[in-house]
Amino acid sequence: MTIAMNHYRSLAEADPDIYQAIQNETRRQHEGLELIASENFVSEAVLQAAGSVFTNKYAEGYPGKRYYGGCEYTDVVENLAIARAKELFGCEHVNVQPHSGSQANMSVYLSVLNYGDTVLGFDLSHGGHLTHGHPLNFSGKSYKIVPYGVTKEDETIDYDEMERLANEHKPRLILCGASAYSRTIDFERIASIARSVDALCMADIAHIAGLVAAGIHPSPVPYMDFVTTTTHKTLRGPRSGIVMCKEKFAKDLDRTVFPGVQGGPLVHIMAAKAVAFKEALQPEFVEYQKQIVVNAKALCQGLAEAGFRIVSGGTDNHVFLVDVFSKGLFGKDAEKALDAAHITVNKNSIPFDTNPPMKGSGIRIGTPAVTTRGMGEAEMTTIASLVAEVLSAPQDESVRAQVSAKVKELTAQFPLYPNRLSKADVASGD
Ligand SMILES: *Cc1c(COP(=O)(O)O)cnc(C)c1O
Repeated sequence: MTIAMNHYRSLAEADPDIYQAIQNETRRQHEGLELIASENFVSEAVLQAAGSVFTNKYAEGYPGKRYYGGCEYTDVVENLAIARAKELFGCEHVNVQPHSGSQANMSVYLSVLNYGDTVLGFDLSHGGHLTHGHPLNFSGKSYKIVPYGVTKEDETIDYDEMERLANEHKPRLILCGASAYSRTIDFERIASIARSVDALCMADIAHIAGLVAAGIHPSPVPYMDFVTTTTHKTLRGPRSGIVMCKEKFAKDLDRTVFPGVQGGPLVHIMAAKAVAFKEALQPEFVEYQKQIVVNAKALCQGLAEAGFRIVSGGTDNHVFLVDVFSKGLFGKDAEKALDAAHITVNKNSIPFDTNPPMKGSGIRIGTPAVTTRGMGEAEMTTIASLVAEVLSAPQDESVRAQVSAKVKELTAQFPLYPNRLSKADVASGD
């Protein structure tokens, strides 16, 4: 009896500590300026699906072929997620079970590579991801990684060098896609380089998936054997991943995701992914993605006008790198100073960085999250001047306090999760 009663208490009652941390985080997200390029704010509908009773369900296997009973509604969810992802990206096959972007990538590698195989991947210090061959990551430990990078002149991908390396090393797989690259990627050219040396190719569109879905960045799907993505960055879904592939790899891929890499899928998260895909199929989503890019260009231009060097001179997408060392600052110190003013960015190495990664010469700035809040070009101009103000006096407490107050004023005009912020939280404003 008591057990059953306690079981249905609200979170606030059952666990005040965690409840409070969630309330504080809701308020932090509302009050701050979120410029981390890999973050976004999901809709109330996505949050509800992610917090649903599907978290209780075991569903190892695939729709119609499960190892557990009671999967009739799970099948509805997974089939909808699959159908919507196919419509969104136009892919032949998709697996919607990967728990994250990293597991999506792992699933591809384990489907088509043997340990020790050679893989061409985008240099991590030029914008690549950990799972593209970092020595401490399983990818770097399992495969022989040959990195390609950007040119020194214009800091865009050096396709000629990629082709030369492909001919020299005859990789089994060529990887592309990035975590910190502001220019359009020529997927067609990369795929043709791969074909010319009999390599497979994979695009990891974790960052730009929303732009690709909206048709704003060219899609890799027609050209690549595999396309992986997270679902929580520009795509604005729950924290998770998916893998798309050509039909001929479908069976191997599905077997690798389960039982190869994962056990039971996170059905609540598959449900949230399905909701996010439905949202991404609406015309408003295309407008949203266009605005992300417009905003990135405006913010980038504002910072360039304030005298900061922008890596590659600008941006085509949702993200750009600011060379703060061009003004004598380490990325680490810039991140810290901005954080104190409630502007969240992350330090980042820049190509050919002369400073160690822990300090870094750059910060990475992205506009997906602030664009979700409804901010436009006028706000980007304001944000650029706020960032410049902090970075012109990174140690000055009074500047931080002034900017922090302006940040609060600005974010108050664009409420985030209004029905989750209790009135007290909004009013207290300490
Ligand atoms: C974010 C990211 C990932 C990994 O996503 P997780 O969900 O954090 O595992 C993989 N590849 C790229 C290019 C990314 O930017």
